[in-house]
Amino acid sequence: MIAGNRPINYLRISVTDRCNFRCQYCVPASPFAVIEHEKIARYEEILRITKLACELGITKVRITGGEPFVRKDIFSFLEKLCAIETLKDISITTNGALLTRKKIKKLISLGIKRLNISLDTLDPVKFARITGRDRFQQVWESIFTSHELGISPVKINAVILRGINDDEIEDLTALTLKYPFHIRFIEYMPMGNSAVEKQQQILTGEIREKIESRFGKLVPVERNFNDGPAKKFQISGARGIVGFITPISSHFCSECNRLRLTSRGALRPCLLNNYEKDILNPLRNGASDDELKQIILATLKKKPSFHGLTDQSFKDIPISHMTSIGG
Ligand code: SAM
Ligand code: SF4
Repeated sequence: MIAGNRPINYLRISVTDRCNFRCQYCVPASPFAVIEHEKIARYEEILRITKLACELGITKVRITGGEPFVRKDIFSFLEKLCAIETLKDISITTNGALLTRKKIKKLISLGIKRLNISLDTLDPVKFARITGRDRFQQVWESIFTSHELGISPVKINAVILRGINDDEIEDLTALTLKYPFHIRFIEYMPMGNSAVEKQQQILTGEIREKIESRFGKLVPVERNFNDGPAKKFQISGARGIVGFITPISSHFCSECNRLRLTSRGALRPCLLNNYEKDILNPLRNGASDDELKQIILATLKKKPSFHGLTDQSFKDIPISHMTSIGG
């Protein structure tokens, strides 16, 4: 599949809009409705869409949400997903709170060897303030258990906000001195009417300056085909990697190889653009495989050349909230 001049081989699947956390930067500030159960794509429906997308060139899938591990029977779904032969790479983004040793072992036995776990702070009190839940210890353990059991790389996603956790940039980065983790600083994206204010937004340049003034000049790391949009660096001599994901300060739209499937069964060519195309209802109404493939291809034709969000356009462009799309 091609969009613009680039091949699209990566499908990001949100299996649920539900989450056991309430991260300040992710959930809307005012009360919001969850999607009714019957409107959420069932596993067999997701699998059918995924198989068709694979026939069109998808080779890489990431499972996300909401929080993927709150959805019932997620392991039976993952087992079937892993059985799709043409899928070369399956990974998961999770808040880690429900990831027990047994579950991590099960993931590894299914062939899932890459995990992104979100962690914005090393301080349990601050963790509870940011996420709305007192679960630091569980997340911390899930990171170390994943590492110990052979998940590689363990990627840690951190969203830095001024006045909340910007004093921890260096401490989070320092984890890479001791462990082969990838710490990825993701620029806050103003979406979904979160409580975050413009003055709290910190862009990569400032984060990088703080890191370099403590640890010296960051050394660029060569990218490989699995990298996605993170710009990768290393502190000289460190075991791990520091990544920057820069949707606002330096968008990577021209390289974006992603298509998204939301939990309500809509295809979305861009996270930061509200265009989406329903594929679930046509599927439920009896569309053939060819008809569904046409919907996938038509969605890709709408892939924008630029998402339009800049640090100047803070909250000017209303984007649905992250859990309803899938981060
Ligand atoms: N619940 C899982 C988790 O937290 O990893 C998966 C879904 S979450 C939406 C995926 C990623 O999006 C997380 O790393 C989270 O930090 C990030 N995220 C959520 N809202 C964001 C925002 N407004 N700007 C930037 N990143 C955001
Ligand atoms: Fe839940 Fe992940 Fe959003 Fe936090 S970032 S509220 S864990 S979906």
